[in-house]
Amino acid sequence: MKPQIAHMEQRPNAPPVPHVLVFPLPAQGHVNSMLKLAELLALAGLQVTFLNTDHNHDRLVRYTNVQARFARFPGFQFKTITDGLPAEHPRAGDHFMEMFGTLKSVTKPLFRNMLFSGQSNSVSSGRPVTCIIVDGILSFPIDVGDELGIPVIHFRTISACCFWAYFCIPDIIEAGELPIRGNGDMDRLITSVPDMETFLRCRDLPSYCRVSNLADPNLQLAADETRQSPRARALLLNTFEELEGPVLSHICTRCPKIYTIGPLHLLLKLKLGCKTTTLQSESSNSLFKVDRSCMTWLDAQPLKSVVYVSFGSIAKMTKNERMEFWYGLVNSKQRFLWVIRPGMVDDGKDGDSQTPAELVEGTKERGYLVGWAPQEEVLAHPAIGGFLTHSGWNSTLESIVAGVPMLCWPYFADQQVNSRFVSEVWKLGMDMKDTCDRVIVEKMVNDLMVEKREELLKSTVEMARLARESVSESGSSYCNFERLIEDIRLMR
Ligand code: UDP
Repeated sequence: MKPQIAHMEQRPNAPPVPHVLVFPLPAQGHVNSMLKLAELLALAGLQVTFLNTDHNHDRLVRYTNVQARFARFPGFQFKTITDGLPAEHPRAGDHFMEMFGTLKSVTKPLFRNMLFSGQSNSVSSGRPVTCIIVDGILSFPIDVGDELGIPVIHFRTISACCFWAYFCIPDIIEAGELPIRGNGDMDRLITSVPDMETFLRCRDLPSYCRVSNLADPNLQLAADETRQSPRARALLLNTFEELEGPVLSHICTRCPKIYTIGPLHLLLKLKLGCKTTTLQSESSNSLFKVDRSCMTWLDAQPLKSVVYVSFGSIAKMTKNERMEFWYGLVNSKQRFLWVIRPGMVDDGKDGDSQTPAELVEGTKERGYLVGWAPQEEVLAHPAIGGFLTHSGWNSTLESIVAGVPMLCWPYFADQQVNSRFVSEVWKLGMDMKDTCDRVIVEKMVNDLMVEKREELLKSTVEMARLARESVSESGSSYCNFERLIEDIRLMR
């Protein structure tokens, strides 16, 4: 079925077509979901400018067919801007947060100038930007929008539960529940995040809360930027009401205009009229070179027999942690497909020469390693039975949609909150945070694939059904998206 692209030509006396500028934080998960949103807006007939950093745009163009894919929308254009970092900067691991400084000092004035001078006007129609949808972790575009009279909508690429935890950080501090007093204090319950009083422990707070100094810049940034969202015209969340209803009702008290429009990747698939996974390879938004050979390997594996292991685009691990995971996986005797991103393991010297023979042998028998996988397709493959994940929000949603139970090993930011909800609230998986031991990995992988499989499948199958329902015609996310388009049309 061919996707329906709404008509953009101007009828006489019809209100002008809105021109939306979409600007993600320059990171894989953010670019991925916001480019999907941009595609949905373009499909609805709006003019769209997708603002990417030069660094990410080079990668996107190198590893995908985005230019050809978006050429079918006459009102769509890519624009680029610098993130202010030198080309060789890793933009991952401990260095990731450095980007926020240069975005403010270097990118912000260029962003303002781009809008002010009309450089962001639509090339096809000359129309200036009428609405900005910016990543909700960045508040400076609200200042620019206010100055130029352009409405700004915040899009948060994290879960609603994590948004709410970020939002409540000042309250947690005021209640004297932070700082955390060492390792022995990690299981203390936090009582000042409404709706989470009975299960949110110190260790489940966003990773930025793990500091002894409450003036820590990353903690301040996460809390301060999140508190700016009520200043935006509306808040978009890549989630669905059936998953996060209770928390959403709390967020509504602070940000009254919310649109939950997720899972976005599923909504887009539906709007593209795609009933199978075949379109995935054509619609990748990857900033890394995808190795599709793992699909052939998966084709040869039995039904639901493989653990997919991936820690996303930013997480890093030490060589020692890699060894613990590797032994745990091999000793579990389960089949595994493991994404080890180039540079993911600290110090980069991860040659096979030092790899113990039993690991090489075990991997040859039951494992497959790639540098980057077509993840949505992998998760939808019938051979996949479980997902060992870092609990990034895109990965979590992709796993929910595919109905695949998760074993969570969160790395940073929102991931600590997500993994708690996955295990304790939604019962979609297990949480392995703050441990990295081969015996535990082996045991939990076997729980995921064998011992607890039936129990976990009950909730994962049901949540996948609810996710599908939310994006189908008359579902909650479907209707919210339609409402969003109407509201953008009314913005002048
Ligand atoms: N991803 C992928 N191939 C991989 C690993 C990850 O396509 O081998 C995609 C994944 O599907 C997801 C995104 O990269 O859409 C990662 O986003 P997430 O929010 O899960 O984590 P982050 O990378 O931001 O930590």
